[in-house]
Amino acid sequence: MTSLLFDQYFFVVNAVVFTQPGTISIERVPDPTCAPDEVIVKIAIAGICGTDVHIYRNEYLSKFPLIPGHEFGGTVVEVGSAVRDFKAGDRVAVDPNISCGQCEFCRSLQPNHCLNWRGVGITQSGAFAEYVAVPARVTYKLPDGLTDQQAAFIEPLSCVVYALNRIRVHPADEVLVFGAGPMGLLLIQALKHSGAARLVAVDKQSRRLELASQMGADHLLLGDDLRIKESLRDLAPHGFHIVVDATGVPTVIEQALDYLRPRGQYLQFGVAPMTATINWRPYDIFRRDWTIIGSFALSFTFQQAIAWLLNGAINVAPLVSHTLPLSEFTLGFREFIEGKTLKVHLKP
Ligand SMILES: [Zn+2]
Ligand SMILES: [Zn+2]
Repeated sequence: MTSLLFDQYFFVVNAVVFTQPGTISIERVPDPTCAPDEVIVKIAIAGICGTDVHIYRNEYLSKFPLIPGHEFGGTVVEVGSAVRDFKAGDRVAVDPNISCGQCEFCRSLQPNHCLNWRGVGITQSGAFAEYVAVPARVTYKLPDGLTDQQAAFIEPLSCVVYALNRIRVHPADEVLVFGAGPMGLLLIQALKHSGAARLVAVDKQSRRLELASQMGADHLLLGDDLRIKESLRDLAPHGFHIVVDATGVPTVIEQALDYLRPRGQYLQFGVAPMTATINWRPYDIFRRDWTIIGSFALSFTFQQAIAWLLNGAINVAPLVSHTLPLSEFTLGFREFIEGKTLKVHLKP
């Protein structure tokens, strides 16, 4: 960076570091240097995600120490010598997925399965910091009119857009979504905009269900309601065309197919613990013509996510429960883990 003031340099913390599994340090780290193909982005807002919790618990592919943070937007402050398309002052968002472009999967247009995959905030320094260095080729200029808060939702919304590319929403489909956390609430809006006629949302928290209703859910069911099975039967006696899990909770996933209509599609969007197992009956999958679909991360869906945020199809402001300075990361992270928050945003 060109101008580093002395007092800033020595006394102001500028990064969250997971020093080892289960240990958070908020400290002063050296600013990143810019490789020829990179840009340096000054972070405006970065969001906490469930993946950060998996990293913190050493349940993911990260190595320590690591600066996490992969959902963010900011402003370019420096460009590498080989970068032509960006200049200082450009407002940008960054696709944290860095694929190699050359392996078998990249050449099959499946960059999310790249054999040499790297991730900003996952395998290399991320956005819970003042600055981050990222390849220019995964950086997207923001159109005018998109707020910093919206920019930090482009990455999670891109995952939702990718999921919608994986399933087929047919006109007037009836949809059931388990889980109305930040991702579930994005999915609910996206499914309604994609043609769902009626959408039922299930969650354990009534506050989240109120938001689901604001975001287009037609029926709301409290997840701990003992009569939930009956209620879902009444709403859709033959089951739903599409059932989505956005909880990642094995006991929820295990009963989700009970509500799927013949020839229905089941989408596994929530991230279950890596070693969890469930009981499903293969006979039912055969007998009822079911389609079971997974959806991992994203694959060149930033532009669609930007378009949906820009035209107002997806409303994100109500999904942010906390906006905190970087120095209060630990507090926000703890409450996020305890399920007391929706999306937590950090402002370095
Ligand atoms: Zn994420
Ligand atoms: Zn690759």
